[in-house]
Amino acid sequence: MVDKAAEPLGFLDLALRAGFLDALRSMGGHYRGGAEVEGARFDGFSQVEVVLKGGDTLKSDIVFAAFGRVANLDGIGLDRLKLAINTRGHVQVNERFETNIPGIYAAGDAIGPPALACAAADQGRRAALAAFGLPPPAITSLVPTGVYTIPEIACVGLSQTEAAAKKIDVIVGRAEFAEVARAHIAGDPTGFLVLVCERATARVLGVQVIGDGATELVHLGQAAIATSATAEFFVEQIFNFPTMTEAYRIAAFDVIKQRAVAQTAHLKLARAAG
Ligand SMILES: Cc1cc2nc3c(=O)[nH]c(=O)nc-3n(C[C@H](O)[C@H](O)[C@H](O)COP(=O)(O)OP(=O)(O)OC[C@H]3O[C@@H](n4cnc5c(N)ncnc54)[C@H](O)[C@@H]3O)c2cc1C
Repeated sequence: MVDKAAEPLGFLDLALRAGFLDALRSMGGHYRGGAEVEGARFDGFSQVEVVLKGGDTLKSDIVFAAFGRVANLDGIGLDRLKLAINTRGHVQVNERFETNIPGIYAAGDAIGPPALACAAADQGRRAALAAFGLPPPAITSLVPTGVYTIPEIACVGLSQTEAAAKKIDVIVGRAEFAEVARAHIAGDPTGFLVLVCERATARVLGVQVIGDGATELVHLGQAAIATSATAEFFVEQIFNFPTMTEAYRIAAFDVIKQRAVAQTAHLKLARAAG
């Protein structure tokens, strides 16, 4: 895997990036960061040669190019409408998905990030409600990220790094898939789930998952965040066994244990101080 960036998937938290790289290497892959591709040529028989800036070449059977996406608003006459376009080339809209021209709405990739199918569908629904003068429900900022790599990666809410940037004191609970019976039954016990909880209340603020089924598993955490559930929720509820959902319970126990240890230490200190 060749990329200009020093590390792959820079928009993800460190633990997930490390998990992805570990999995890539364990499958015999190699990440070459800081490398810019200048060109690729097929030898006309069986090999593709990729030429990197600086002269290095890489030979392989197949090259798969995945360069990201940009909005394509050209050639459909938007310039004649004098629609407000931002510096990144996206149509500007307000919270009702209405452009600067009353009665013209925009949604999806045309208005920029997160540029996901799930977000686009929701934005379109809200734009349609607004266009028909119906009150749209409050906008949720909770959009999950799903990366269909092998293994899958998914996250929702705050990561530990984002919580630190917002000066929110958090406890991070972790469950290794190797601790989950279902992962062994499924024959793939690699991966982990991380629960980011507010230290003071144990309220769930974020979930990160890497491993088989991560993009499905993340939604239970999303529901917990949306309903302001705490780590205790995953302990008090009875879930099917064996299922991957057990990872939530294990991570929640980890959070509860860390809070209990911290509280005991605090009590001991208070007693020692008289
Ligand atoms: C390779 C790839 C993988 C992706 N994977 C995921 C993923 O795993 N999960 C996810 O959530 N999102 C994913 N996305 C993003 C997702 O596809 C987009 O965010 C989503 O489709 C945006 O919806 P949209 O309606 O804004 O645009 P689009 O789905 O692009 O729809 C725009 C439509 O307008 C039509 N159109 C264009 N010009 C004209 C014209 N002049 N006249 C009439 N019709 C026109 C096009 O044909 C198209 O049907 C992926 C995108 C790509 C390219």
